[in-house]
Amino acid sequence: MAGKRTHRITLIPGDGIGPEVSGAVVKILEAAGAATGVGFEWHQFAAGADAFAQTGEYIPKALYESIEQNKVALKGPVTTPVGGGFASINVTLRQKFELYANFRPVKSLPGLKTKYPDIDLIIVRENTEDLYAGLEHVIVPGVVQSLKIITDKGSTRIAQFAFDYAKKHGRKKIHSIHKANIMKLSDGLFLNCCRKVAAEFPSVEYKEHIVDNTCMQLVLNPYQYDILLTENLYGDILSDLCSAFVGGLGLVPGANLGAECAIFEAVHGSAPDIAGKDMANPTALLQSAVLMLHHLNEAETAERVQGAIERVYREGKVLTRDVGGSSGTKAFADAVLAAMESAGAAK
Ligand code: ATP
Repeated sequence: MAGKRTHRITLIPGDGIGPEVSGAVVKILEAAGAATGVGFEWHQFAAGADAFAQTGEYIPKALYESIEQNKVALKGPVTTPVGGGFASINVTLRQKFELYANFRPVKSLPGLKTKYPDIDLIIVRENTEDLYAGLEHVIVPGVVQSLKIITDKGSTRIAQFAFDYAKKHGRKKIHSIHKANIMKLSDGLFLNCCRKVAAEFPSVEYKEHIVDNTCMQLVLNPYQYDILLTENLYGDILSDLCSAFVGGLGLVPGANLGAECAIFEAVHGSAPDIAGKDMANPTALLQSAVLMLHHLNEAETAERVQGAIERVYREGKVLTRDVGGSSGTKAFADAVLAAMESAGAAK
């Protein structure tokens, strides 16, 4: 084992199921790190309604500074009020740190029976513009305008990210997802940027599908897709759809990546319906933490955690309810810890 390395990570446990899933993840990472010579210094902050109650700010200044300094954050879900209230914390952080690439791998776990076995696709979602720019106003009472912002810069850099990733990791095909038949200018610009970037990568097959057709095609035959390259809103919707292929939102991880910083968070939201009941599946945030470990060049620790997750699913004895089991968040986390320990002992 090499000398101990310590990583400073900004931790946002979040609300709803956030504290439960992030508590489980931190425990598992600490154990994995202890076995591989990797330490973590967690700099913990509240965000959203909890932060407002404590500090009078939805995103405290100290949280911004911490991410700026540490460059890496692990984030649980933070509830966004519907139809009013404060702006989404998730979207605000992504915009503030220019985390333009939302990377969401959707991969089947061994042993977990779903309607679609052996899924392995990736959603690469533009993360800073589109209707998520949050530019809405009342023109006259009863008429609201919401602005969809698509830029050459934003579209080109997300396409570049997707093609670079495909080339580096031997992925074969990229589909740009659009509605350029209706939104001829905005989605048309997105497509033109994708086509220009695609022309520089002849080894990666490039295709275009209209978003509504994509929903049907995905349900009929998801195996035709490899990487889905999307604007912000289409990527959000398709992520939830695709999560169902591998067992649901409790499983799918995500990374928000920019030139300077990265925030790792699950695809799912704060799931208020099951919060505080020891029912949440921590796998999605745990697999987000695995992405974080790879980002930190800690492959051995990442593989130790991923190997234990896969072992628990392959055995199928301690699973949460969302994937057909009857165990709680804590029991699942303990099973992952035990799987890591026995894998270590077997070495
Ligand atoms: P958002 O818009 O904030 O992303 P959402 O509307 O997609 O949120 P979620 O909070 O993700 O909603 O919850 C959707 C459904 O999935 C709920 O029934 C919730 O209980 C379930 N769910 C989400 N995450 C998990 C999890 N980690 N474990 C088990 N079930 C989950």
